[in-house]
Amino acid sequence: MKKNSFWEQTSFLEPYDLVVIGAGIVGLSSALFYKRTHPDARILILDKGFIPEGASTRNAGFACIGSITEHVADMAKETEENIKNRIVLRYKGLQLLRGILEDENIGYENCGGYEVFTSTQQFEEANEHVPRFNKWMTELLGQPDVYTADTLNGYPVIYNRLDGALHPGKMMQELIRQVMTSGCTIRWNSNVESLDELGNVTLSNGRTLPADQLLVASNGFTKRLLPDVDISPARGAVMVSKPWSSIPWKGTFNHDRGFIYFRNVGDRLLLGGARNIDKDEEEQDSFGINKKIKDHLLNFAKDKLQLPDDIAFEYEWSGIMGFTPSKTPVLERLDDHRVIATGLSGMGIAIGMKVGKKAAELLDDKG
Ligand SMILES: Cc1cc2nc3c(=O)[nH]c(=O)nc-3n(C[C@H](O)[C@H](O)[C@H](O)COP(=O)(O)OP(=O)(O)OC[C@H]3O[C@@H](n4cnc5c(N)ncnc54)[C@H](O)[C@@H]3O)c2cc1C
Repeated sequence: MKKNSFWEQTSFLEPYDLVVIGAGIVGLSSALFYKRTHPDARILILDKGFIPEGASTRNAGFACIGSITEHVADMAKETEENIKNRIVLRYKGLQLLRGILEDENIGYENCGGYEVFTSTQQFEEANEHVPRFNKWMTELLGQPDVYTADTLNGYPVIYNRLDGALHPGKMMQELIRQVMTSGCTIRWNSNVESLDELGNVTLSNGRTLPADQLLVASNGFTKRLLPDVDISPARGAVMVSKPWSSIPWKGTFNHDRGFIYFRNVGDRLLLGGARNIDKDEEEQDSFGINKKIKDHLLNFAKDKLQLPDDIAFEYEWSGIMGFTPSKTPVLERLDDHRVIATGLSGMGIAIGMKVGKKAAELLDDKG
């Protein structure tokens, strides 16, 4: 005997063509693009949070294609081809995001980005690579002279004219608005407990929903659902100061291969990162602030950014990222009913919508 009412079963609970697990930038973008090519499809997006509750609304809002020392560090681990592909993906991904959501809706600022050095030797080493990466950018993106060396607030810097910043909350609100307007359904507070190879998902409330296609876009939480996927959770921390009328840092900045980042948000200072200070401890998917990391960031702000004594931080939060060993996202069809798109490895603003678009194409390709 069926337990749902006849009315529920023949409306709300009709089988879905696509169920997406995770209302982050990837899950929502994939639903948006899938709906464009399948206007009649019944699409449901499930998220465990009251609002998106992973990385997309808890990040730092850097819209960037990568610093010199980040590229150099990647070259020690990866092929040149992989790194070049990622630069193109980031650049084109940002153009796609800005084109679909529009700059004024997402608070996009074309401010450029600075890599800040506190050691002359490290600056000189990085500066030697500038001609090579400028050549790459010209060849790959048609953009000459992307990186230039300069001095700012007494520190040597390398400026990247293509980097920018945005407001992640506004970005996600606009994405949700477009997804809902397109006719997809989003259900919040809906934690997926398990899924099977036939496309069924079971929620924590015991309800099971069948779907023809299932997209797993749960990023840093993926191992809870699919323990064999090679992706590690990585917690990140962000703080935002009280208003600071004479803030001397305007734009986006990164330091130490991108591990520390800071920017102005109006007249406030945002500061975050330093996950590398306690990497093993931060490889977890529970929210929380690590005191060792917080102290490291505060010391950096005081000693290097000359944060005045009377300025205090008003916000501090954490978010959960998903990292793959090579930083390349896991984007593949698992079987007839399931696709996975996850592991954005800390650069989801630039590549998130593009990965979502590719996931929608993969959902179409049933082999
Ligand atoms: C502190 C921090 C700072 C960052 N700064 C930047 C930055 O400046 N620039 C940049 O480009 N990137 C940054 N990132 C990375 C970027 O935010 C991510 O790469 C991107 O948001 C990932 O998007 P996603 O859709 O894959 O995952 P998420 O946004 O994490 O979305 C996954 C969603 O799945 C949901 N979910 C998970 N498991 C389940 C389940 N079992 N049932 C139901 N729902 C589930 C979660 O609630 C979540 O909403 C930062 C990340 C963090 C944490």
